[in-house]
Amino acid sequence: MPKKPDQLVRPEILAIKAYHVAESEGMVKLDAMENPYRLPPEMRAELASVLAEAEINRYPEPTGKKLRELLAARMGVPAGMELLLGNGSDDLIQIVTLALARPGAVVMYPDPTFVMYKMNAVLAGMKPVGVPTRADFSLDRDAFVSAVREHKPAVIFIAYPNNPTGALFDADDIVAIIRATDGLVVLDEAYHVFAQKTFMRRLAEFPNLVVMRTVSKLGLAGIRLGYLAGLPEWVREFNKVRQAYNVSVLTQAAAIYVLGKLDVLEEQAGVIRDERTVLREGLASLPGVTLYPSAANFFLTRVPDALQCFEALKAQGVLVRNFHGAHPALANCLRITVGTPDENRILLSAMREAL
Ligand SMILES: *Cc1c(COP(=O)(O)O)cnc(C)c1O
Repeated sequence: MPKKPDQLVRPEILAIKAYHVAESEGMVKLDAMENPYRLPPEMRAELASVLAEAEINRYPEPTGKKLRELLAARMGVPAGMELLLGNGSDDLIQIVTLALARPGAVVMYPDPTFVMYKMNAVLAGMKPVGVPTRADFSLDRDAFVSAVREHKPAVIFIAYPNNPTGALFDADDIVAIIRATDGLVVLDEAYHVFAQKTFMRRLAEFPNLVVMRTVSKLGLAGIRLGYLAGLPEWVREFNKVRQAYNVSVLTQAAAIYVLGKLDVLEEQAGVIRDERTVLREGLASLPGVTLYPSAANFFLTRVPDALQCFEALKAQGVLVRNFHGAHPALANCLRITVGTPDENRILLSAMREAL
């Protein structure tokens, strides 16, 4: 008799849930921090002809040399630092984790945060250690530094700003953590265009720091591209873990084209930052809603009954992300992505109705 999957699959994998993605067809989609704007029509037409020329009969250039050079120039990667490309930054999280996964080694992160840090630690057989943030989701620097001393993490992941809370931790606290650990610190700057704060320029100060970014929140979630900047010694080792052709010919070609017109995406990000202010005021004026400060393109809110509110929004065609039940600190919390002015108006009136 062959064994059943639940007899063969590792117990720690049986114990976790697959990353949840909600059905969203026809909905006002405010659940995944996407840029709500598409590329302008003339750029889409140009992109189509660029992609038509791409040699999809060939394997991609394995390290994405041309794209790396362009990213380094456009994203302010300091001289002497090397770039690693990923199939989204999710891929990079996995690569870094696998590279450091000595049995029992610790992966540390402020908690709550992006679930993939813990997920990858578990998949790699490492020990995930979350250090609780304060009740307002700010970083508890003393608690974090003592946890570093106690657990001696091989790697620390910090989302800057944090997801799902939106909190931008104090830069001095980040520096204190980088100095307190002899492990690697991965600063996940997925929302840097919205926070306009970065450690990219400071990489040379800290040999145990790498900066990770993605083009997903900038407006290219569909092409799957992340990048990590750090000392060549780190990137050389990570390259051994990376799947040889992890970034496709089409992704590389599309990214090279769009990076040549980065100002278009940056302008969209500017509109989203302005609209964030409008949405903040709208949400703050709703009775019974607690709103947390956000430096990203979303807000974490606490409502009297998150499940009821989530369902009532959904019934009105608005999809947000419900965190109730996902983490004790996120009880009755909904995360709402900043959309277009129209979408935000629809959200606010649906929210008023739902409450
Ligand atoms: C969205 C997000 C990512 C994932 O980005 P992809 O490049 O789309 O895989 C990584 N880190 C944080 C903190 C995020 O919010």
